[in-house]
Amino acid sequence: MTNTELQFGIKEALEQLNIKEVNNGTWTGLNNFSDGEILESYSPVDGKLIGKVKTSSTADYEKVMESATDAFKQFRLMPAPQRGEIVRQFGEKLRKNKEALGKLVSYEMGKSLQEGYGEVQEMIDICDFAVGLSRQLHGLTMHSERPGHRMYEQYHSLGVVGIISAFNFPVAVWAWNTALAWICGDVCVWKPSEKTPLCAVACQNIMAEVIKENNLPEGISCLITGDYKIGELLTNDKRIPLISATGSTRMGKIVAQVVAGRFGKSLLELGGNNAIIVTPDADIKMTVIGAVFGAVGTAGQRCTSTRRLIIHENIYEKVKEALISAYGQLRIGNPLDEKNHVGPLIDKQAVELYNDALKKVVEQGGKILVDGGVLSGDGYESGCYVKPAIAEADNSFEIVQHETFAPVLYLIKYSGTVEAAIEMQNGVMQGLSSAIMTNNLREAELFLSVTGSDCGIANVNIGTSGAEIGGAFGGEKETGGGRESGSDAWKIYMRRQTNTINYTTSLPLAQGIKFDL
Ligand code: NAD
Repeated sequence: MTNTELQFGIKEALEQLNIKEVNNGTWTGLNNFSDGEILESYSPVDGKLIGKVKTSSTADYEKVMESATDAFKQFRLMPAPQRGEIVRQFGEKLRKNKEALGKLVSYEMGKSLQEGYGEVQEMIDICDFAVGLSRQLHGLTMHSERPGHRMYEQYHSLGVVGIISAFNFPVAVWAWNTALAWICGDVCVWKPSEKTPLCAVACQNIMAEVIKENNLPEGISCLITGDYKIGELLTNDKRIPLISATGSTRMGKIVAQVVAGRFGKSLLELGGNNAIIVTPDADIKMTVIGAVFGAVGTAGQRCTSTRRLIIHENIYEKVKEALISAYGQLRIGNPLDEKNHVGPLIDKQAVELYNDALKKVVEQGGKILVDGGVLSGDGYESGCYVKPAIAEADNSFEIVQHETFAPVLYLIKYSGTVEAAIEMQNGVMQGLSSAIMTNNLREAELFLSVTGSDCGIANVNIGTSGAEIGGAFGGEKETGGGRESGSDAWKIYMRRQTNTINYTTSLPLAQGIKFDL
């Protein structure tokens, strides 16, 4: 197979992104010395081999860590606004490469072209955010209880940040972390998903240009590739004070324990089981748009995808009928064709999990309302295209309690007041995103109150899916408790120090303690 067989302008996109040796060649990114095994990347869009990447060996990893550790010694000395300038230049390069990178994201991961572009736009947005932030890494000042003393706190660069990312946001999650980490003076070592290695190589190439043009050390941005075993090198490494890990709850549980075992910090962004509550006062049209986009967008492979609709019994039938009708209009197919709403799942293993969920929901007492199934034939050769399905279910079903990373939506009926719906919404182990559709102020405020949603994200009259970079992003309970992106999420990338300065000629002790010599 040669790269000339690649369609939809992918060949040109790869060339622009400096991934030239595709298919029969291999590519290792900035740290081009790998002696590891070969990882092949196949597109879920058409099943074709896109390229091969050499994975990192333990020896490569050591070289990367040496390069990162050295780079940190230099980078932390650069004033934060100058580091902001580096991130600004990175954002500019992303603007120039938006189309090519967006296409590669769509082709390697399988999300729609619009979403691929949207993911690169998120990278650009977080760069802009980080540039401004580079002049606002503020600490507080406090009044000392001792005369002639001054107290304040400051934030210092932390060190090497290890980033482990999932396949479903193959570029944006890395940028959320790196843009902030870089302005904070940290350097980054990235272990992307083994399912989307070429997107990672492309990002690394773009940043490598910025690093070279500014005559900075290469180790500011490092890439290591491979499966969980290379991720384990990061999590076990005492030289890495912070591991930011995005992925399944299963992975997060392991990573959290390993990192805590060596007193490192973890920033965990794990699975969700997101619900929309639909009350009798909901706008049905808005509800259907929010629910359908939330459930089928990215083929249900967003951490914020809508998995559960908790609908009041009085409007249950109406919402159900509207959803069934909307699902009838969905077009499933090549995500690079903008006419299609739903693209493929990432791989055959994901298809198996989808089939398994549909089987289990029936076994556990549910009823299928919109049939699922795997599509075959023309345009569906990869075997990864599935029909978005809807099932009537109970919140307590074991399958409903779990995140299935596929377009399966569960309809759950509630009766009585909104408190009953909130209890169901909170009645799962995950706590990422949640929403309520209502025009009733009391219901909306209750949902947002301390007795309301227990999730990291709680929305009124918009769905669960997606988020703006200006807010802190993350979730509670088994979602891991981490916060990335906007607001004051930057603080985790720095170490906080409290300073007390005595400008007198005596040494009074705090809390009035006397120690006379
Ligand atoms: P995954 O857990 O299978 O893999 C994620 C990453 O972790 C990969 O790079 C993988 O190689 C690595 N990994 C796995 N085991 C590891 C270990 N023991 N040590 C170190 N690294 C290890 O997840 P996935 O299938 O790629 O992504 C889907 C999951 O990610 C879903 O659960 C989704 O909800 C979640 N996700 C969460 C967020 C969020 O912000 N909360 C964002 C995106 C995805």
